[in-house]
Formats: sequence, C-alpha cells, structure tokens
Amino acid sequence: MYGLVLCTSCKRKRITDLKCETSACPYCDRVSKTCELTVLFSDRSQSVVRNALNSAESSKYPEPRKKSGTDHDPVSTLIFRYEHTSGTFEKLVVLADGLTGMKGTFSKNDVNEIFPGEGEHLIEQMISADIIIEIRNGTYKAL
Ligand SMILES: [Zn+2]
Repeated sequence: MYGLVLCTSCKRKRITDLKCETSACPYCDRVSKTCELTVLFSDRSQSVVRNALNSAESSKYPEPRKKSGTDHDPVSTLIFRYEHTSGTFEKLVVLADGLTGMKGTFSKNDVNEIFPGEGEHLIEQMISADIIIEIRNGTYKAL
C-alpha cells in the first residue's frame, strides 16, 4: 500500500510505502514513523498514488493550516482534511490536532459543532487511542 503523505517537518507532500515503519523525506531528510504521517490518499498501486500527487492541487489536498491565519475558515479546512485523510486513527489525529490548533483546548461541544451528536463518541475514541488527554474536567488537548 502506497500513501500520499505530508512530511511532519516541512509539510511537503510525498509518496511513501505504508508497509515500511519509517520513511525519510526527500526534501528535508526528516525520518518519520509511517504511523505518524498524515495520509492524504492511499492505494495499492504506486502509479495511482503518483498520479494523485501529480494532480494534487491545493484545493484538493489543502496544506495544513498555518498559524498566520491566512486560510479562510479553519473549521471547513479541518473538515476537508478529515474527509481526505484515510484511516480512522489518522482522521482522529487530524481532528484532535485541528481543534487544539484552533482553540488551544476543546470540549465535547466543540466536536459536536463539527460532528453533531458524535462528540462524546469521538472523544472516547481519541482518549483510548492516546491522541488527546483530558486536562480539566471535560476539556481536552491533543498530545
Ligand atoms: Zn520534509
């Protein structure tokens, strides 16, 4: 299985073999654990993934939001990234990181605003996957 992933360091897109435990970024040489990479797209065929990389436009595979706040709407950006991330764990990481990035901390209600009725369920999943911690009663933060 090959994946179109984002480098955890320079945030550039590249193709990696998802079977490997680690992969090195050709742009910045950063070695990342494959399980920690954001997978934007994956397919069994490397050429399909390569086509996706070649046709990837910023509208289709948005770059992670920068702190400068130049993006239009952080919530839509987060939802878009969530929808275009494959794998349950990866989706939860995108959600947890997105909410923490936007708000610093977040609550069940913040999750419910994006996924109505799913807040409690998603937070339980994120806690059991060690993606977030409860720093105060009902207040969470990405690890
Ligand atoms: Zn890199």
